[in-house]
Amino acid sequence: MKTQVLGPAQENLQAAAELLRSGQLVAFPTETVYGLGANAFDKDAVLSIFAAKDRPADNPLIVHVWCREQLKDICEVSETAEKLMDAFWPGPLTILMPRKESIPLEVTAGLPTVAVRMPSHPVAAALLKACNVPVAAPSANRSGKPSPTSARYVYQDMDGRIPMIIDGGDCDVGLESTVLDIGHGKPCILRPGGVTRDMLEKVLGEVDVAGSVLRPLQQGEVALSPGMRYKHYAPNGQVVLVEGEEQQVVGALRRLCEEAAQNGHKSCVMCFTEHAEQLADCHPFDLGSIHRPEETARCLFDTLRRLDDVGMDAIFSEVLPPEGIGLAVMNRLGRAAGFHSVQAEDILRD
Ligand code: AMP
Ligand code: MG
Repeated sequence: MKTQVLGPAQENLQAAAELLRSGQLVAFPTETVYGLGANAFDKDAVLSIFAAKDRPADNPLIVHVWCREQLKDICEVSETAEKLMDAFWPGPLTILMPRKESIPLEVTAGLPTVAVRMPSHPVAAALLKACNVPVAAPSANRSGKPSPTSARYVYQDMDGRIPMIIDGGDCDVGLESTVLDIGHGKPCILRPGGVTRDMLEKVLGEVDVAGSVLRPLQQGEVALSPGMRYKHYAPNGQVVLVEGEEQQVVGALRRLCEEAAQNGHKSCVMCFTEHAEQLADCHPFDLGSIHRPEETARCLFDTLRRLDDVGMDAIFSEVLPPEGIGLAVMNRLGRAAGFHSVQAEDILRD
């Protein structure tokens, strides 16, 4: 299959909408990451998403809408859900709601709830409006790869597997949406994203965060969000997170990187812009300003992919406090590192 990459002109969105309506797959930009869309009412189209991504069938998909009217055929909407939509839609918040029959079980991986979101990206909104069916869309990467934040990464993963990619430039948030469960007592963040815990608490009162957000699932623990079970976001090299006081972290990054290089590794560091000069000899990959965690969010997946492009196999990274958007960054970075971390002072003491 030939994969066309087209800009977001209205006639291209019309062509993409036709493909979606006829049961085919289209990748498109959203404010979080690129999505790989199919008509959510069409079971076979939905199954072809899993095939194109090599995605395990038990990992459910997010359904995207352009207006709330569409929800009547998708899910039961509670008062809490209405409040959340008033506050955060369109935007990077996915809400779990009881599924209606017209949504095939292939979308929800057999779960009684369906995950729904209204993206704010103008190209996503225009495409959803043009096809006027709800669109099931996971991130447009091959399973296990970092989610794509630009059309060229979608092309890398999906060339020959899907008919069309709409190129709308780089994604603004850079990490996937916040997934929120409102069906079991206190609301609970299953996956942190662009809508932060603080923002949600202003609307809902206290909000929990699933334990597995900042650690691996424990043996026998049920994954509230099935996606949490899978190895995700991992570059081919080993990532190690270095924690501690700022200047000690810089010193430890240098020492770890140099030692790894002496042992024959292709080693590098991921560091904040403020430390890049001090670490100039350690192949620094810039994570944005230490004072602007939204920059780290925006560039993280791009950085993880570039590490693979140049074949880095020992990667030492700074960390952010797990607050605000930093929680989403640390969830993805933690998983990229297999939650492998060291204390800077221990490294400098040895
Ligand atoms: P992706 O579309 O690749 O960003 O992944 C969608 C995420 O939403 C995965 O982590 C899923 O496990 C999660 N998700 C989707 N539907 C549900 C649901 N009904 N219950 C819990 N988590 C869900
Ligand atoms: Mg994904």
